[in-house]
Amino acid sequence: MAKSFDIGLERLTGAGVPRIGVTQEGGGPFANDAQGKKPSLQVAGGAESTFYLETFGCQMNDHDSEKVAGVLLARGYRQVDGPEAAKVILYNTCSIREKAAQKVFSRLGELRPVEATELRWIEESKLGLGKSANLEIGVPRAEDAEQRSGGVRTRRLQSAGKIIGVLGCVAQQEGEGIFERAPWVSLVCGSASYRKLPQLIAELEAGNRRVTGLDTDTDETFETEITRRDNPFRAYLTIIEGCDKACSYCVVPFTRGPERSRASASILEEVRQLAEAGYSEVQLLGQTVNSYADPSARKMRFSELLAAVAEVRGIRRVRFTTSHPRDFGKDIVEAIDAHPTICDQVHLPVQSGSTAVLRAMARTYTREEYLEKIALLKAARRPISISTDVIVGFPGETEKDFEETLSLLDEVQYDNVFAFKYSPRPNTPSLKMADAIPEEEKGRRLAILMDRQREIQRVRNEKLVGETFEVLVDGKSRRENQWSGHTSSNRVVNFTSPEQELLGDYVQVKVTKAMPHSLVGEMVGRG
Ligand code: SAM
Ligand code: SF4
Repeated sequence: MAKSFDIGLERLTGAGVPRIGVTQEGGGPFANDAQGKKPSLQVAGGAESTFYLETFGCQMNDHDSEKVAGVLLARGYRQVDGPEAAKVILYNTCSIREKAAQKVFSRLGELRPVEATELRWIEESKLGLGKSANLEIGVPRAEDAEQRSGGVRTRRLQSAGKIIGVLGCVAQQEGEGIFERAPWVSLVCGSASYRKLPQLIAELEAGNRRVTGLDTDTDETFETEITRRDNPFRAYLTIIEGCDKACSYCVVPFTRGPERSRASASILEEVRQLAEAGYSEVQLLGQTVNSYADPSARKMRFSELLAAVAEVRGIRRVRFTTSHPRDFGKDIVEAIDAHPTICDQVHLPVQSGSTAVLRAMARTYTREEYLEKIALLKAARRPISISTDVIVGFPGETEKDFEETLSLLDEVQYDNVFAFKYSPRPNTPSLKMADAIPEEEKGRRLAILMDRQREIQRVRNEKLVGETFEVLVDGKSRRENQWSGHTSSNRVVNFTSPEQELLGDYVQVKVTKAMPHSLVGEMVGRG
């Protein structure tokens, strides 16, 4: 079935492939249509190779997908909007919480060819497995029986003849087990092995039935010749991959492998190319971005790299995420102070306000040590917007521990909080911890925390009414004269302007109204 993808390697750098950061349709990186036109190349033999790529999870996954798309475009594939029209269907997956992982399996279930299900049904019947088998996909269900007995056979997508691949964290976590659970999948590749993707795709094109890339013992990062960037206003750049921390609840060290940093010269070269291509905002990415360790002889510290990126001609905004509190030092705040182009925004996940819970989470800092980092940020020369991540209902979290998290929110006065119910994950030490918190109680705590934070944000945002901010315009409403964009502090601002074309422009907006999660205003000038 893979024969129709037999394209020559010379296509890798062939004509029609766009430069880094350039959307592929006229209008440059600020074009409203972020997808742009993809090069429409024909594969050998006349059949056109198409791929559909769906991404779950964090910004790092989004950016990995941009690079995966770049690899496929370079091989002559064309991207399509839905799995129906695609010859290759790829899911770039997330397993940080159980729900995210489940979503992928239900998507794969939609691609289950009837024949494969029947085969599996027969195999499982032989093994004595039935409806009670604890498998999320490939399990015979009433509808399969209907299909077998001549019922509707076309309820699911016709996936026969397609290449179906699972990338990312679920791929790494489940490994070849995915072939067991979904025999119609032919490619399983974790993010630490993306360097091998072109080779794996070539093997499928050559007729191999199943290929995997599951090594995590690599010191390489995933760099590509072209990256098909989806966001025309903000360019993402991974500067460090993997994670060496060992938070007791987290799958990332297992699914993304050890920390690998990219050489500073290569990062700076890409930033220069992005600036030339018209991008003025870049966001440096890493699970622990500030643990960056330059592998080159230059040995740039993270704060030095930040400063160097901020000095690239044409770059007006530099963001970075996610920072780990342990590696967050004064030098980073000094770099922000010295470079107005580094945005007034730091995401510094705390996870809990209780030192006892932080210890159980193996976060490597106490509440007091975390607050010292916050004090550094509050001492900066300009106000810095601070956001965080919080997990509620970690095993053993008492009511008093939870109260301490609430009091931390009051004390820090965050501008945004991403809060999650603790989700037990495979292979993690916290899986075996005693005193699990019931789901209902986790839900109660989450609702209380979100209410408290919403009120904090409402009050904080109210204080901004009457102030004027620089906004990078990245959205146009269907309603006339309505636009939206982001401030340097990453606040969303919806504003009015009679101008005809503003996308990608920097404008001055005066805030007239505040909501907990956004601001409303009117344009008062150009940026
Ligand atoms: N490296 C970042 C750090 O140290 O804060 C976090 C990256 S993680 C992909 C994003 C967030 O997911 C974490 O900050 C945490 O709040 C949340 N998270 C991770 N594992 C979780 C779990 N097992 N249950 C609930 N939330 C989890
Ligand atoms: Fe996960 Fe902790 Fe690493 Fe963040 S620092 S990715 S929470 S292990």
